[in-house]
This record gives sequence, structure tokens and C-alpha cells, in this order.
Amino acid sequence: MTDIKLLETGILDGDRMVLARAITLVESKRRDHRKSARALLDRLAGKTGDAIRVGITGVPGVGKSTTIEALGNRLTSAGHRVAVLTVDPSSSRTGGSILGDKTRMHTLAANPDAFIRPSPAAGTLGGVAARTRESMLLCEAAGFDVILVETVGIGQSETSVADMVDFFLVLMLPGAGDDLQGLKKGVLEIADIIAVNKADGEGRMAAERAAADYRSALHILSPRSPTWSPPVLTFSGLKDTGVDALWDQVLLFQSRMTASGEWQQRREQQRVGWMWSMFDTRLRTALQDRPELQALSHQLEVAVRSGQLQPGSAADRLFEALLSREV
Ligand code: GDP
Repeated sequence: MTDIKLLETGILDGDRMVLARAITLVESKRRDHRKSARALLDRLAGKTGDAIRVGITGVPGVGKSTTIEALGNRLTSAGHRVAVLTVDPSSSRTGGSILGDKTRMHTLAANPDAFIRPSPAAGTLGGVAARTRESMLLCEAAGFDVILVETVGIGQSETSVADMVDFFLVLMLPGAGDDLQGLKKGVLEIADIIAVNKADGEGRMAAERAAADYRSALHILSPRSPTWSPPVLTFSGLKDTGVDALWDQVLLFQSRMTASGEWQQRREQQRVGWMWSMFDTRLRTALQDRPELQALSHQLEVAVRSGQLQPGSAADRLFEALLSREV
């Protein structure tokens, strides 16, 4: 049995080793570990929630780690303690991780006021996101007052991250503004700011052009909040120009949203959303825990695949079987 009290004290003392151990506990799939993790999070509940939570996304190569380094080091110099977490479900598909490598941010990794934790290993997106959320709470209890949650600009992981943070920063490449279809359009809808990176040297003009394109694209979308129209900025993570202006926008957002009550509202909605997504995950685990239900679900999948059974009826059968103790 894990000593919860010891973990609790260590975390509240800001002990990084203990924090790392607690995150490992939260990430564990073992049933007894899950129980201990739950107990630990319950005990820490009153000590969480004080940080600014910022999500950062963008395609590989856009400059996420460069930007996080520049921003993270700036923030720690100003007296903040910064935790960097990642949601990278690619590890579940490929066995490798795009974002998992700590060496991507080597100066920040060596910074005593920063804490970098790669994405939890393999799992479904829902599972990975849930673990990251819980790790975020542990970091807050350990005194980190800025949480940066990084994700790759592919697919649904962006929505999961947007659902766990206060502010969602979307990084774009210069010259990519002419392709606003599909995926990128979806991400514009959840962005609280669009920041075009690499606005340095020869890239500057292209970045400005891309920014203008994104501004007109945003114009036709209705903003997520009546209080905030997402601005479009250009900056250079590499040269560290405009990174401070980016953070100013985060603070402006915080003060306006706090004044309107939306800051708190978003958090409340998020908490309820987490409850339901964890309930969904719990249902799936309940299926996996009962071998007879696994066998039934395989049979049902076969029947659905061949068209013998409608997906809705199969789902009903499975649900009824889950509620009963016999199949
Ligand atoms: P990530 O995959 O999104 O984390 O991107 P990285 O931060 O690893 O950056 C990818 C490449 O772009 C690296 O070679 C960086 O040096 C370069 N890069 C990042 N930010 C900038 C920038 O502001 N300007 C320029 N010119 N290059 C940059």
C-alpha cells in the first residue's frame, strides 16, 4: 500500500521527487494504485486550482518546444514556477512519442523552478488526457502556478487539451495561412489566441501575411466567448521576440474573463465534463474487467461488422449484459 500521507506531505512541500512519484502513481493502471491515486487527489483537493493553465498546440516543427523554453524561462525569471505536461496519444499508436523527449527543452529541464513531465505512456486519448489532468492537479498542489500543457497539432488531442486549460494557444507556421481547410479550421474554433511563429529574418513578411489571413478567417467564426475575440500575433520563439507580448495576452484574457465570471464558469464546466469522460472510461474498464463481457463484445463486433446486427442494438445488448451479473 502506498503511503498517501507521505506523498501528500512531500507534494505540499514542493518536493519534486515526490511529485514525480505521485504522477507515476496517477499514471498507473493497477487497480490498487488507482485507488491510492484517487485518495491522494481527494486529500489534495483544496490545494489545487490556483495556477494559470495554458494549452499549446501546433504541428510538429512549428516551434512548440522552442517557444515553451523561451516562455518558461521568462516566467521563472519573473518568479513563477512552471510545470510542462504533454498529451501525446501518438505513443499509443506508434509506441514512440513525438513529445516525450525531455531533451527538447534542455535549458528549461535544468531550471530548478520548472518541472517537465512527458506524456503518460500508451493508452487511449481519454485515458492519457485523464492522467494529464490529474498530474496537473498534483503540480498545482506542489506550488506550480503556471501549467503549460503541450499537444501535437493532430486530431482530437487538441480538443481534449482545450477542455483542461484556461487558455488555448495555437501556434502556426508562416506561409501556411492559405490552407485553412479541415483540421486547421477546427482548431481556430477553440483557439484563444493564434500566434504565428518564426517571424524573424526572412520569415517576417510571410508571418505577417499568414497573420492577416488568420485574422480574416477568424472574422467569420463566432468567438467562443462574448468577452474575448482571439487576437492574432506574430512572434519568434527562437529570437525570443514577442513572447512577452504573448504572455501579456494571457494575463489580459485572465483579467477580462475573471471579471465577466467566465473564467470560473469554464472551470466548472470542465470539471463536470471530466466527470462524464471519466465515467465513460470507467464503463469501458468495467467491460474489460469481466472476461465474459469481453467475449460478448467480440461476438457483437463480428455481428455488427457483417451487418447482421445494427450498432445500436449491439450497444443495447452489451449495456444490458453489463448491468446484469450474467450474460
Ligand atoms: P516543435 O516540434 O513544435 O516542438 O518545434 P521545435 O521547437 O522543435 O522547432 C522546430 C524547428 O524550428 C527547430 O529547428 C527550431 O530551431 C526552429 N524554430 C523554432 N522556433 C523558431 C523561430 O521562432 N524562428 C525560426 N527561424 N526557427 C524556429
